[in-house]
Amino acid sequence: MEAGISTAMMGEAGEGGPVIAILGEYDALPGLSQKAGIDWPEPVEEGGDGHGCGHNLLGAGAMLAAAAVKNYLAEQGLPGRVRYYGCPAEEGGAAKTFMVRDGVFDDVDIALSWHSMHFLGVIPPKTLAVTMIDFSFGGRSAHAAVSPHLGRSALDAVELMSVGVNYLREHVSPDA
Ligand SMILES: [Zn+2]
Repeated sequence: MEAGISTAMMGEAGEGGPVIAILGEYDALPGLSQKAGIDWPEPVEEGGDGHGCGHNLLGAGAMLAAAAVKNYLAEQGLPGRVRYYGCPAEEGGAAKTFMVRDGVFDDVDIALSWHSMHFLGVIPPKTLAVTMIDFSFGGRSAHAAVSPHLGRSALDAVELMSVGVNYLREHVSPDA
């Protein structure tokens, strides 16, 4: 357990520094259950959880990389520790945010992650941060024929917010 998250974990091998972190992710998403080896939708379990865009590979692939680095350091007699961080809830749960907040990565010198792609290489571009916010909209009911002017539509508020966010979006700076 790391950062109070029961499915987050860390394992370490080696001595001294640098500290090399390799991040493994292993969450599944609702509704993505899918049989292997076919390119049309066919769930293993109707409505079940599954992995999108190769996420079934991320945790195991990162573990293999951590083991390879561990073996390399040992074979070469090099100092350094390699850590495998098991990072759950990659798709929206933001477990790494809580792990960072709790200092789990404080003494890490480099953190590496990977993602399955249609090519082999290093991805240099920056990516945007994401945050999830719940909004609640409240209204007040009124009789539509007798006193519509006394009502307050929560749906109107949702629609106005949607329009406003769309207008705002093109003016948000790239580093926001
Ligand atoms: Zn992905």
